[in-house]
Amino acid sequence: MKKPYMGKILMVDLTGRTIEEEAPSEQVYEQYLSGVGLGAYILYNRVPAGADPLGPDNMLGFCSGLLTGTGSLFSGRWTLVGKSPLTGGWGDANCGGTFAPAIKRCGFDAVFFRGISSEPVYLYIKNGRATLEDAGDLWGRDAVETEEHLKERHGRKAAVAVIGQAGEKVSLIAGVCNDGGRIAARSGLGAVMGSKKLKAVVLDGVQRVGAHDPAEMKRLSRQCIKWVNFPLPLTSARVFARVGSFLRITPLAFPQDGLLYRSILKKWGTGGMNQASVEMGDAPVKNWDGSNRDFPPAKSKAISPAIVTDRQIVRYHCYSCPLGCGGICVSGGKYQRTHKPEYETVLALSSLCMNEDLDSIFYMNELLNRAGMDSISAGSAVAFAIECYEKGILTREDTDGLELRWGNTEAIVALIRKMIRREGIGDLLADGTRIAAGKIGRGSIEFAVQAGGQELPMHDGRNDPGFNAHYSLEPTPGRHTIGAYLYYEMFQLWKRVKDLPKPGMLYTKGDRYTVDADKISMVAACSKYMNLANAAGMCLFGLFVGATRTPMFEWLNAATGRQTTPEEYMEIGGRIQTLRQAFNVKHGVEPRDNFATARALGKPPQKEGANRGRSVDIEAFASGYWEQFGWDGATGKPTAETLGKLGIE
Ligand code: SF4
Repeated sequence: MKKPYMGKILMVDLTGRTIEEEAPSEQVYEQYLSGVGLGAYILYNRVPAGADPLGPDNMLGFCSGLLTGTGSLFSGRWTLVGKSPLTGGWGDANCGGTFAPAIKRCGFDAVFFRGISSEPVYLYIKNGRATLEDAGDLWGRDAVETEEHLKERHGRKAAVAVIGQAGEKVSLIAGVCNDGGRIAARSGLGAVMGSKKLKAVVLDGVQRVGAHDPAEMKRLSRQCIKWVNFPLPLTSARVFARVGSFLRITPLAFPQDGLLYRSILKKWGTGGMNQASVEMGDAPVKNWDGSNRDFPPAKSKAISPAIVTDRQIVRYHCYSCPLGCGGICVSGGKYQRTHKPEYETVLALSSLCMNEDLDSIFYMNELLNRAGMDSISAGSAVAFAIECYEKGILTREDTDGLELRWGNTEAIVALIRKMIRREGIGDLLADGTRIAAGKIGRGSIEFAVQAGGQELPMHDGRNDPGFNAHYSLEPTPGRHTIGAYLYYEMFQLWKRVKDLPKPGMLYTKGDRYTVDADKISMVAACSKYMNLANAAGMCLFGLFVGATRTPMFEWLNAATGRQTTPEEYMEIGGRIQTLRQAFNVKHGVEPRDNFATARALGKPPQKEGANRGRSVDIEAFASGYWEQFGWDGATGKPTAETLGKLGIE
């Protein structure tokens, strides 16, 4: 029987310069699949409690998904894992492009690093043979330049994951890049790579990935493609922004079908929501203190999806993706070509900082991608600094002469450059807002909008409390790619998994703020489903089409030859979530310390705009959510009984 996993992982000790292969047991693959599950299994067992995230005991793993390469669609995400220097707890981040299948083509499901190299190095794997190579000539180069250089050296087919200057300078908001500027941005794991003096991982292999039933894999993929291509006419970007205004005004809400969002992604990419999100109260404004009124259509038209997409010269598809939400754009200025700025980047650098200059956003997007710095955290740090400056907490002397005012494009760009170089005020901000506020003091912590140290993404949890629940309760806090009420509606999990609640056909928006058993089940189900997806290597956007149309459960069965039920798969997702939470507990993270900051929770509520009067009772979510996983309802710590049942020591 052909298996969808390679059955081997690679362990690289950078201190001792040893490279060893290991073969995880069948049981590990059965219980954790691969991807984030395999990563959590290895790191939970091998990173000692209290290990310094930037020290030799921390590990960094590059993990492919179980479904990657098996013929299933949307399965090109790879997951980076490690102890996060930003939160002090479990860290992971995932990314698309072509790197995930390259890991498997080299014959491994994952590659792990421990130790610290004395000199900059990169790992090169060619046809299963791994060597550590000198990276002295690459250190100091940006991520895109380094990738190009390595492809010239090792051939265009090589897949490269690399850090830029942000990782080298151990900025705690650094990520790891591949495919010319796509980035596994969150959790600050680029800093872990930089601390290990590991510049890049270069993969060039030809091994094939198996599947138990390739014909069934193909049949399921054909069925899924029909839904991806299902015609659904979309209106213009201008009208769509007005839809956002309508969604703000109407007191009623209805479950949304992901087919609509799929059409938006196809037409404009994630940026399709740029303006509508501001209008409906989904996008935070002015460091989460403003509202849609501060960034009305007259301002947000600068980031209209149509205008952003006008610069696109070709669509970009990750490996095995029929949707292609990415784009390669003409950037102008120094950089001719750039990846289309994603929604998160655009909003973090526009509404959050009140910046209306699209050219500057394209430019900063490329700067950040090349430096390998998380644009969510970078934009949030800029907005935080502006608010501190506007309130007199920071002065011109502190900012190296920068006039940090809302919407001052020149100062915003200059600050981003300083953060990348860790220069002056930029050095202070390059480790995120919580650490910066700790150093600045004078009440600035109030303006550091984050959860557990990680800056919050551009989806306002006062608009959809499901976001706030995940921001606060995820083992990697501040994560927007796990769940929200909107996601639950689009996943349509109740159609596949027994006993999950079906959202009402029409409900009042006020209902969203009352926490009850159904809502807790929805939030927990999203967590389980997305852990499963991240173990399988699936893209969230593919799953938005709905669990009956994007057949992840069926693909998993056809790939493995097992007859696992959706409920059993959700248990696997729950096991991975428990292991990630147990990792946090092992490393001394108190689950309550990960709750989002008061402003993000609507405490006190805003007085005007789309989210006026709204606040989220995170305590009401917490105990019910924790109990859904068999964790202590009072502390959020997995109980001994649950760990025993799951076979976790
Ligand atoms: S939907 Fe977008 S992010 Fe997801 S796999 Fe496709 S191109 Fe990549």
